[in-house]
Amino acid sequence: MDNNEKKPEVRAADCVELYGAQAVRMNGDTWRIEDGMVRFFLLKGTEKALLIDTGMTVRHAKEIAETLTGLPALLLNTHADGDHVGSNEQFESFFMHPADEAQYRKDGKTGKVIPVRDGDEIDLGGRKLKIIHLPGHTPGSIAVLDVSRRVLISGDPIQEHGRIFMFGEHRNMEEYIRSLEKLDRVRDAFDEIWPSHADIPVYPDCIRKLCDGARQILEGTAEGHEAELFGQQIMVYDLGFTAFLCKK
Ligand SMILES: [Zn+2]
Repeated sequence: MDNNEKKPEVRAADCVELYGAQAVRMNGDTWRIEDGMVRFFLLKGTEKALLIDTGMTVRHAKEIAETLTGLPALLLNTHADGDHVGSNEQFESFFMHPADEAQYRKDGKTGKVIPVRDGDEIDLGGRKLKIIHLPGHTPGSIAVLDVSRRVLISGDPIQEHGRIFMFGEHRNMEEYIRSLEKLDRVRDAFDEIWPSHADIPVYPDCIRKLCDGARQILEGTAEGHEAELFGQQIMVYDLGFTAFLCKK
């Protein structure tokens, strides 16, 4: 039931501007919130709402979530990269894989990490979510399977027509490949994948394509070119369906 009686204009709209971000309704109880180059998600159950990430420039993710759902919002982070934790400081505690906590603290960020690991479940009331650990992009990257809706909210490891960042000390291409192999074995559990960047939705077929592309890069058979990003020399492997940015 939608109990957001005070804001019928929000309930009626498929797309609404809130605190400088654009909230787009994906279905009756799910939104994606577009924050420039990144998006985050809002899921509503009968008892609780859950934000999956808090964007990059947005500072009011909590208010956005509570305005749209009329429920107190919990937070889960897919990983600790800066473009996914923009409003984290609005939350005293949040779900995160413990392998990303050190990276999160590097920027002096506060809040209590409630650890979640592979196979853990979160119930929002009539809506069960399952955590899938996908290390590689970061050690603690996780995806969230919205079990009954058959949607995987993937974070950064899955992207089409995007740029997957694989340079920097906490990235690991071998682990990334193993994670995609693992995800491919459970691909029957979801029909759509909703990534944090670039195309949405994408489909389970892309898992094998990404895995093959990553393998070619690792084996040295993919074609790449040098580039500079954030003052670092990197290798760009543009595979057509997506690009990997790797260490030189
Ligand atoms: Zn990202």
